Amino acid sequence: MSFPVSFEFFPTKTPEGAAKHVGVRQALYARKPEFCSVTYGAGGSTQAGTFTMVRDIQNEGVGAASHFSCIGATHEKVRAELNELKAMGVKRIVALRGDLPSGYGLGGEFQYASDLVAFVRQGFGDWFHIEVAAYPETHPQAKSPRSDLDAFVAKVRAGADSAITQYFYNADAYMRFVDEVRALGLDVPVVPGIMPITSSTQLMRFSDACGAEIPRWIRLRLQAFGDDTASIRAFGLDVVTHLCEQLRSQGAPGLHFYTMNQSVATLEICDRLGL
Ligand SMILES: Cc1cc2nc3c(=O)[nH]c(=O)nc-3n(C[C@H](O)[C@H](O)[C@H](O)COP(=O)(O)OP(=O)(O)OC[C@H]3O[C@@H](n4cnc5c(N)ncnc54)[C@H](O)[C@@H]3O)c2cc1C
Repeated sequence: MSFPVSFEFFPTKTPEGAAKHVGVRQALYARKPEFCSVTYGAGGSTQAGTFTMVRDIQNEGVGAASHFSCIGATHEKVRAELNELKAMGVKRIVALRGDLPSGYGLGGEFQYASDLVAFVRQGFGDWFHIEVAAYPETHPQAKSPRSDLDAFVAKVRAGADSAITQYFYNADAYMRFVDEVRALGLDVPVVPGIMPITSSTQLMRFSDACGAEIPRWIRLRLQAFGDDTASIRAFGLDVVTHLCEQLRSQGAPGLHFYTMNQSVATLEICDRLGL
């Protein structure tokens, strides 16, 4: 039986970027993804770009999921955008709180992603399959690992169907998180988010911002490679393939790849995994 994969993209910013991304998507579609998702900038910055790419993916015959962040938004705006997605035939969303760009006040009628999940269920019934974010290494703003787990549980109890995790390079953190979720009586699928390693500086910057830990043994090796991109990619391929193998053998229900709008690294990992 095939093992489910999904691919995440972000909206392109230029017509040239959009044209190039068509080829990236086509290459990845060959792996028969369960769905492809498109990120959504908080504050509405890329909402139009998100919906355009979601529409393109649907038109290409692949299931699309729109990420949807609610921070700073009103009920009215969220309802209107969800109606737009529904009219497009989109059946899956990734419901998020999101992060406001610095300089924005909090405002808005949603405080947490759980508020959005409840709002979607209340207004749209079972139309949308609702994914939510999970943090095996704990969300950076959480008061404690336990309060973050409670926040995850609240999203599921509000009506989420499944979860995608923040990326991580420590399989034990994922396994423990899933065990804790199961111990609380929840059986939602928790799909690991996989970040291929292709660049050292970009990964460090990203990970600092989102609270994902780069284990010391990986960080030191990446730093030692300097600007030797070929060695970084070869090492990254080994590390991430091994992580995916561990996750699959320990029961992960699928793999969600943060493609960073590139196909090569994700395809290489899929090749090695036989996906
Ligand atoms: C799979 C995935 C996809 C993502 N896609 C996007 C995207 O497209 N666009 C984007 O802008 N960002 C995206 N993000 C990042 C995400 O928006 C940020 O991590 C954001 O800071 C939290 O969003 P959330 O939905 O996890 O929030 P929440 O689940 O609301 O949690 C946010 C914080 O609040 C805490 N919390 C929640 N509920 C409560 C409560 N009742 N009381 C006290 N504390 C509480 C949590 O512990 C956590 O620290 C994504 C993250 C993941 C893992």
